[in-house]
Amino acid sequence: MVYAPNRPNLTLPPIRVNLYSDTQTRPSAAMKDAMMRAEVGDEQSGDDPTVNELCDRMAALTGKEAAVFLPSGTMCNQISIAVHCRPGDEILAHEASHIVANEGGGPGALAGAVVLGLRGPRGMFDVPTMQANFRAKRRNAPPQTLLAVEQTANFGGGSVWPLDRLNAVLDAAHDWGMATHMDGARLMNAVVAAGVPASDMAARCDSVWLDFTKGLGAPLGAVLCGSAAFIDQAWRWKQRLGGALRQAGMSAAGCLYALDHNIDRLAEDHVNAASLARGLAQIPGIAVETPETNLVFFDTQAAGITADELATRARQQGVSISVMGTYRVRVCTHLDVDRAGIDEATQIIRDCMPK
Ligand SMILES: *Cc1c(COP(=O)(O)O)cnc(C)c1O
Repeated sequence: MVYAPNRPNLTLPPIRVNLYSDTQTRPSAAMKDAMMRAEVGDEQSGDDPTVNELCDRMAALTGKEAAVFLPSGTMCNQISIAVHCRPGDEILAHEASHIVANEGGGPGALAGAVVLGLRGPRGMFDVPTMQANFRAKRRNAPPQTLLAVEQTANFGGGSVWPLDRLNAVLDAAHDWGMATHMDGARLMNAVVAAGVPASDMAARCDSVWLDFTKGLGAPLGAVLCGSAAFIDQAWRWKQRLGGALRQAGMSAAGCLYALDHNIDRLAEDHVNAASLARGLAQIPGIAVETPETNLVFFDTQAAGITADELATRARQQGVSISVMGTYRVRVCTHLDVDRAGIDEATQIIRDCMPK
């Protein structure tokens, strides 16, 4: 069966606190208003002024020459891989990264590339781990052509790569002759948490993208940035995959609204995540990973309840949480959850735990 987490189920009460993901936000009235008023044109002819403005702003924000608007973050990753890699090439990425587990085998299916999963705590790895996985450049080895990092590392607990560690692995990749790619689905969460500008975080990345449908609260869109030559090739893949759009300015206007209004407030989500973590840590049998941004992971094994059973019980009480492993749960804060929601959810999770 194909798992559809939030398909309306009439036997369940409505969701009151949705901690399932920061993708669960609904566009605000003000964002929709901006979308309604957007000036539009034919995006794939380069004639949509709102998309063009968004791309210009994203190139400036990330310190890159050019940018392209795409429907989703997955397409940003897959197009980047297809541009950087030839069939048979090998990508180095953390074993828990989104491209490994959550993109339908895209690197193999689309680019013909294989992924070598690197290990390391909290979704990060270090230079010695990379070096241990470098293959002698021989005819029988797959060419290692791309290093991918996630900022923040989603399944690593929403952790933030510190700038020096990040730069060290990116430099090591370049020294080994690889291109570098940053999956910046939640890049602005890292920027806000660390107080480091996006252009500094992405300085050593040949490609970087930001998702507007996570904590930034837009209904659609991601922007991929890189050199002019890279974006030129990305455009061919955008056409090829059916990601070239028409009056996409309506969506881009939501993204521009998010750039103007929803970045600084990510700090609130981080404060809410910290308070959610503190509340959960007081529940017997729950072991919480200290959050760095808006994602909170916890383990239920000591209480003898699976993540799936806890999620089922919580959902029956109107709280949606995400199952990430047999005993691993993820809860996310975002702009549609406030302090009262956090407190209510914490109490309900406490009530759902075995006594
Ligand atoms: C959500 C996510 C993606 C994919 O983005 P979509 O817009 O959902 O396609 C990629 N990488 C990470 C780390 C993510 O969290």
